[in-house]
Amino acid sequence: MAHISDLLAAGRTCSFEFFPPKTDEAARALEQTIAELAPLDPSFVSVTYGAGGSTRERTRDVVINIERNLGITAMAHLTCVGHTRAQLDSLLDEYKAAGVSNILALAGDPILDDDGVVADSDFEFAMELVELIKEKGDFSIGVAAHPEGHPRSEDLYSDRRHLADKLNVADFAITQFFFEAEPYLRLVEGLSAFGCTKPVLPGIMPVTNAAQVVRFAQLAGAEFPPHLADRFDAIADDGDAVRALGVELASELCQRLLDEGAPGLHFYTLNRSTATREIAANLGLGDASPAGA
Ligand SMILES: Cc1cc2nc3c(=O)[nH]c(=O)nc-3n(C[C@H](O)[C@H](O)[C@H](O)COP(=O)(O)OP(=O)(O)OC[C@H]3O[C@@H](n4cnc5c(N)ncnc54)[C@H](O)[C@@H]3O)c2cc1C
Repeated sequence: MAHISDLLAAGRTCSFEFFPPKTDEAARALEQTIAELAPLDPSFVSVTYGAGGSTRERTRDVVINIERNLGITAMAHLTCVGHTRAQLDSLLDEYKAAGVSNILALAGDPILDDDGVVADSDFEFAMELVELIKEKGDFSIGVAAHPEGHPRSEDLYSDRRHLADKLNVADFAITQFFFEAEPYLRLVEGLSAFGCTKPVLPGIMPVTNAAQVVRFAQLAGAEFPPHLADRFDAIADDGDAVRALGVELASELCQRLLDEGAPGLHFYTLNRSTATREIAANLGLGDASPAGA
């Protein structure tokens, strides 16, 4: 399938992120979601990977199934912490044999053993996985970026420097979600100060449930700005109004990012299509030229 680096070189991309379903019912729901999003003509979709390998086979099977049966370019997320080199080698070989050519190379969160001690691992940082994949050849490699700094970072400067190092070898980055354009714009500016101009796709998470997003944001090191939290608090009892405000704010954010020159939009769908489709409609996406390329 297409290399995402080539798609990015050709114009703006529009992409959707899914997680691998655990049950047959969830698998059917994901199929339905993908069918509902297909008219938006995604440039690619991506499928998450459970840290430590908990979804190893499921992620692989969903990625291969999407490419083979739906003809949509699919990127496999892959984490390295808690893995041996041999485990990752063999999974990458399986992807290569299946024709999957896009990998999002991640560290993953530290894996603790039964005594709460960090388990042995051949890998510590995503950069080591990026290098392993590069050695294999034939893959387009994405990495994670954190506009407001990774929660484990000592400071923003060193986080940006490590990201620039990863991007020197990898092809593009996708960001953690954020709620206002400024952190993203500062990230791109910070990377260019290190001489790094590789594409950085903004990750968009529409708010459909304010309490859930506050929890996700705390885990991801993203600030849910108080003035936005106040607007959601004021309508907290009205689920439909919360969803409508979430779609309105995400649409405004996407438009600003596109106006500022973002190379595309990557939507965290949580395996549902409605909010993403509404944002796409607000932006006028959905024909053969996604994101107005
Ligand atoms: C778009 C996206 C998709 C994701 N998908 C998944 C998924 O599918 N599954 C999953 O489990 N997790 C996923 N994550 C979460 C990610 O695995 C975690 O944030 C993880 O804690 C860090 O991963 P990383 O790849 O950013 O790590 P790294 O790039 O290794 O960075 C981790 C921390 O180490 C620092 N660092 C990096 N290199 C060095 C160095 N040489 N010396 C010292 N410090 C260094 C960084 O500044 C940062 O603070 C995703 C995140 C994003 C943004």
